[in-house]
Amino acid sequence: MTDKRVYNFSAGPSQLPVEVLKEAADQMLNYKGSGMSVMEMSHRSSTYQKIFDDTKATLKKVLNIPDNYKILLLQGGATQEFTNIALNLMANGKSDYIVTGSFSGKAAKEAAKFGDVHIAYNGKDNDFTEIPTQDQLDIREGVDYVHLCNNNTIYGTEWNYVPDTKGAPLVVDMSSDILSRPVDVSKYGVIYAGAQKNMGIAGLGVVIIREDLVKPHPANIPVLSELDTMLEKDSMYNTPPCWAIYMLGLVVKWIDEQGGLEVMKEKNEKKAKLLYDYLDQSDFYKPHAKKDARSNMNVTFTTPSKELDAEFVKESIAAGMTNLKGHRSVGGIRASIYNAMPYEGVEYLVNFMKEFEEKYK
Ligand SMILES: *Cc1c(COP(=O)(O)O)cnc(C)c1O
Repeated sequence: MTDKRVYNFSAGPSQLPVEVLKEAADQMLNYKGSGMSVMEMSHRSSTYQKIFDDTKATLKKVLNIPDNYKILLLQGGATQEFTNIALNLMANGKSDYIVTGSFSGKAAKEAAKFGDVHIAYNGKDNDFTEIPTQDQLDIREGVDYVHLCNNNTIYGTEWNYVPDTKGAPLVVDMSSDILSRPVDVSKYGVIYAGAQKNMGIAGLGVVIIREDLVKPHPANIPVLSELDTMLEKDSMYNTPPCWAIYMLGLVVKWIDEQGGLEVMKEKNEKKAKLLYDYLDQSDFYKPHAKKDARSNMNVTFTTPSKELDAEFVKESIAAGMTNLKGHRSVGGIRASIYNAMPYEGVEYLVNFMKEFEEKYK
């Protein structure tokens, strides 16, 4: 069955490691002698509690999360955290947002419902092809936090430094590059991510928050947005996304077994380099992102025309690849090459690109 799997370049929900899928399949009918699947278990059972605790412990190990950071496993994906961050962290009602793409724009728009939100940078004028330098950021003094999106899934740009925020905690949406390389967690106030890009399946938002930033919640917010309540109840105020948490556990265990984030980084850089090197020497394809802003996770480019973009997508499907069509807001081609994409998948794509170029140039 596995030999029929396609090379799936989806931006998310995205390809999972085959080993992880096999393990989930093996445990489907009877999880470790419990006589049931993880989907059918009480989240209050000791069997499930162990899955939950092991998942958090392995994530903490793999990402090297310091002890003064807490992990929350919540429903609602990354978008729910756009809301939760604004509701819980804007104690003085002021935050700055760095807008480098669609998701950071959405996060800013959501936060603006609840406080004084200042756009510290807006990449719209350059079609979101860049990541700003420190000098380009107009960050105010004394804000509750500064928000950025570490990897712009739609445009294919990625931050390669941690900006100075004038002492304010930095809140980062890492949905599409978390676990792709080591990061120094202590440089951030909050890291959050939807799991379905690089660490699992949809329905789960992972929040890694510095303990002192969890303050008593404002009185009039929805209970599921109360981060202090969620922390106090260890993410189980209500039923957590049990199956998604279990899948996250399998993925982080897989990363650990592969050798951790240094190994992920090396593999991801090698894959991205193969693709970008090919794009750079070609006169046919044009990469979207500026060189120093390129993402190692989402590689975006165009062919000489919209018609050829469409033809590229069509022929790629016939060749056994899927989801190479760029996001509807940008067009062109997007190859998402997260941790689970093997080097051979990128090689296969590059060979296809060469043949396509030969045929249509
Ligand atoms: C996909 C994505 C989101 C939205 O995630 P949901 O889980 O669908 O809410 C937010 N930010 C980034 C960077 C993403 O890639």
